[in-house]
Amino acid sequence: MKVHGPYKRRDGRQIVIVVERNNKRRTVSYPKWLMECQLGRKLDPDKETVDHIDSNFNNNDLSNLRLVPREEHSSNDTRRVKHVEFECAWCDKKFERSPRLVRDKAKKNKAGPFCSRPCAGKYSRMLQLKMIDKFDSQKAVDSEYYKKKYVNASYLPDDFEVDIEFTDLLAYVSDYIV
Ligand SMILES: [Zn+2]
Repeated sequence: MKVHGPYKRRDGRQIVIVVERNNKRRTVSYPKWLMECQLGRKLDPDKETVDHIDSNFNNNDLSNLRLVPREEHSSNDTRRVKHVEFECAWCDKKFERSPRLVRDKAKKNKAGPFCSRPCAGKYSRMLQLKMIDKFDSQKAVDSEYYKKKYVNASYLPDDFEVDIEFTDLLAYVSDYIV
């Protein structure tokens, strides 16, 4: 068995190319590869994955890696709500917030969104003093879920970037993804 890498992808994650004894090649994320070495066996790509305990995917120290069942991993870790940029209705400052929070307020017909409590406070005070008219209520924004990018042995992501030295391996790789 031979191992090439680790190679760094554009998103910073590291992968290795493992050439098995039968000359089949597979791409494995570096942390998964480390876990496989530790366990002395391959991971089951349908059931197991590796999690970075401190959420820093560059910290591939063995003490920072743990094996988790895929179900748990996908519910806790891969489904995240993308924050959306909003403009504060009071001060025009741009800020990011989960669209879910804004949608909840939009449902209640609340004005905004506001970047901060002080801005929301100034608005309601001015409204109370009848110095301004009520602002339009917040507009609901759809949540956009994104999957945390994860390289595993079962697929090669679209944005996979290849080191020059290993370009000629790519043809092989795509044929031999396990
Ligand atoms: Zn503001």
